[in-house]
Amino acid sequence: METYLGRVKMSEERRRNRKSRKREAIPIHVLPVQERLDNFKEVVLGYQTIHEVIEESERCLQCGRAKCIEGCPINCNIPAMLKAVREGNYEQASEIVHSFFAFPRSLHRICPALCQQQCIAGKRGDPIQIEAIIRFLSDNFGKPASWYEKLPSTGRKIAIIGAGPAGLTAAYQLAKLGHEVTVFEKAPAPGGMLYLGIPEYRLPKSVLFEEIEDIRKLGVKFKFGKAYGVDFTHEDLFQMGFDAILLAHGAHLPKNLGILGEDLENCTHAIEFLRDVALGRIPNIKGKKIAVIGGGDVAIDAARVAKRLGANPIIMYRRTREQMPAIPSEIEDAEAEGIPMMFLVSPVEIIGDEEGKVSKIRLIRMELTDYDKSGRPYPVPIPGSEFEEEVDWVIPAISQEPEFRVFKLEGFKLTKKHTFEVDEDTNKTNIEGVFAAGDNTTGPYLAITAIAEAKKAVAAIHRHVMSKKQSNDTETESGEETEPELLVSA
Ligand code: SF4
Repeated sequence: METYLGRVKMSEERRRNRKSRKREAIPIHVLPVQERLDNFKEVVLGYQTIHEVIEESERCLQCGRAKCIEGCPINCNIPAMLKAVREGNYEQASEIVHSFFAFPRSLHRICPALCQQQCIAGKRGDPIQIEAIIRFLSDNFGKPASWYEKLPSTGRKIAIIGAGPAGLTAAYQLAKLGHEVTVFEKAPAPGGMLYLGIPEYRLPKSVLFEEIEDIRKLGVKFKFGKAYGVDFTHEDLFQMGFDAILLAHGAHLPKNLGILGEDLENCTHAIEFLRDVALGRIPNIKGKKIAVIGGGDVAIDAARVAKRLGANPIIMYRRTREQMPAIPSEIEDAEAEGIPMMFLVSPVEIIGDEEGKVSKIRLIRMELTDYDKSGRPYPVPIPGSEFEEEVDWVIPAISQEPEFRVFKLEGFKLTKKHTFEVDEDTNKTNIEGVFAAGDNTTGPYLAITAIAEAKKAVAAIHRHVMSKKQSNDTETESGEETEPELLVSA
């Protein structure tokens, strides 16, 4: 017998499954709070046994119109993966995961799971814990042989600037298409924001570097320590013989608060603070009271890192808790770790002592009025409500942007938001042979959206270099290609 629910034809098995389905998710393991605060051990441990993964997968409704796929920026076939788990085909499930992601172990430790936010099961109960299931599969079943398969060499050379989520994804996919790929990274190690911005307790460096090592095994070369736009330009790269360039160096320039006192000693922007800690340059903040300004993931990360370094951070945000853009579970973890939060306050001035170090912050209380473009009520200052708080350190965490001044000099067309102006379908910039993807085109956003952008650019780059190859193949090649000697090798 078959029944219908709306426009979706349901089999008897699916109908039974829907009726008997558990509404509560199988809980995910986390490190107890008392074991977290003096170390950087991983906090979210995910599922620990295949039985938990099977039980959670069995809650999936196998929707006719799977909202999880629509919610995922790269349209990962989540229902097929969950079905394979339910049927005991774990290798097949892992293969499905790896056909979509270059570094699933790292990504599914930090992704806010847009797929889960759309999950139909979440309408009447908990959504399927897709992130934890993918993480378990990729942690425990390894990369399938198909992940390493690549097409024969095309003889085309592609330079990628930036070894973050967009750059790594593009490097992996372009290498699989048979191209010779070199990734140029300013930092001393790959990963971009995954390495420099995401703290160890969310994404252990060992996991990240193992996955990048797998990408290197596909023949991708990495060159570290020189910055595009400072040490070399795209013209240098074309002269070296590269056929196309992908700019995927993210948005690492911190936005300023634009208030007095931001230049004082002990006022460090969150992105710089997190980068210093990632690179082992640990600031001495033990016992210090730190004002972290902002309500996004970077603010939460900075506060939780500061807490682990022995400081007393307090998050100050101009809207309310409900409007914080950070991942809700990260906010809950910060609260569980004892990090206080002040809402509806905005900094007006950072005040220094006679040595030029931060000693106080002047704040003003805010109230919410009409809705802004983001659909959230807009905060405005309450006249006469200023007050001061004694603090030893200030960490602004209000956003980042690309190094737009450099790119303007290089002749790129930029948007009003200081991001690259690119063709929507191909991610081509206004300079022939140069493409851009990731936070430098979207503005600072998620790793998964950077990955989706990179995939779009890969298709266009492949078409570009292959059409160039076809026209070159009909002509006599002349001139020798220059090796990229000016760059420091890994
Ligand atoms: Fe399963 Fe949720 Fe996707 Fe439906 S939307 S197929 S319940 S994971």
